[in-house]
Amino acid sequence: MVFDHPEFNAHEQVLFCHDDAVGLEAIIAIHSTALGPAAGGCRMQPYESPDAALADVLRLSEGMSLKNSMAGLPLGGGKCVIIGDPSAANKHDLLTAFARHVQTLNGRFWTAIDVGVGPADAEILAQSCDFIFANASRYPAGFDPSAYTALGGFLSIQAAAAHRWGSIDLAGRRVAIQGLGATGARLARHLHEAGAELVVADVSVGAVERVVQEVRASEADPAAIHAQPVDIYAPCALGGILNDSTLPEIQAEVICGLANNQLAEPRHGAALHAAGITYVPDYVANGGGISAAGTAIFSDPTPDEAEATVNRLFDTVTTVLDLARAQARPTSEVADEIARARINSGRAEGA
Ligand code: NAD
Repeated sequence: MVFDHPEFNAHEQVLFCHDDAVGLEAIIAIHSTALGPAAGGCRMQPYESPDAALADVLRLSEGMSLKNSMAGLPLGGGKCVIIGDPSAANKHDLLTAFARHVQTLNGRFWTAIDVGVGPADAEILAQSCDFIFANASRYPAGFDPSAYTALGGFLSIQAAAAHRWGSIDLAGRRVAIQGLGATGARLARHLHEAGAELVVADVSVGAVERVVQEVRASEADPAAIHAQPVDIYAPCALGGILNDSTLPEIQAEVICGLANNQLAEPRHGAALHAAGITYVPDYVANGGGISAAGTAIFSDPTPDEAEATVNRLFDTVTTVLDLARAQARPTSEVADEIARARINSGRAEGA
């Protein structure tokens, strides 16, 4: 039963989408529309069971409520998952059938690319649905949300440095970056331009070679990147990497990266606080992409206007870190509290 599911937390609406003709099985979860239409990506994965898909979409949609709220956007949180292999021969048909389900929500839910659903797929969705955002054809000059995510991560690191060391200056600061994909490689460039010394790791040899050459970074074993003697650790690959095994080995004073769900469990946020580490909560630091992309849902922004929404992240991070320090509490708890309070005030206004 959905209402008893461990990941169910006052979600407004959960839709099970089915289309026999093409074999579509998908779920849309709208966690909250208190602050505006729900927005979140569309993921396609061959989940091991429908329950695994349900757990993912419930958790991710609530995460989007928090992220959109924290970014100060007039957007609620939602997410959708298509159960299937993203390389399936009938992907086009599955996406088209799914887009029709999203269309029936008439703008209560907007979706975009995510794991298994790339830019070309977003264009297919957009052919049958008016509520797709951040698809490149909407932008004459193209659009790459990862670039804004990386910019937001860089600004978040600057804000954390100012909080921790009294200056945004990153010259000579040592930063370890885990994962050099769409976000991590760009973050490396920003940090290099700011004069930081980089140590990087990726399981892809090619990704490491490209970044090492471009920004003169040194290379670490992917299994030991979290344990480097650095000032800042930036996880930009996997979730769950702040856990019982890695925490005792972390030497960085600041953790600020772009990966989602970095804390293995909420209690690890408290453990970071106890260890005296300044942790910028993941969904705060990586809100740059949705800030830039989501703006297109309610306005028609120029690239400069989109970037201006990302620039707000510096103040948001500062607010969270300052409040956590003043209250001597974990940053993860303080961020959740701020995000949930905004959602609740939106509910109260709408009531
Ligand atoms: P990506 O797939 O482009 O890059 C991820 C990189 O991590 C790849 O190069 C991969 O080889 C590497 N990697 C995988 N396992 C690793 C390991 N064990 N050690 C080191 N490297 C490893 O993904 P991305 O778009 O850069 O996203 C990275 C993270 O940021 C994800 O958690 C994603 O959900 C999150 N995120 C991304 C965006 C965005 O705009 N792209 C926005 C918000 C959050």
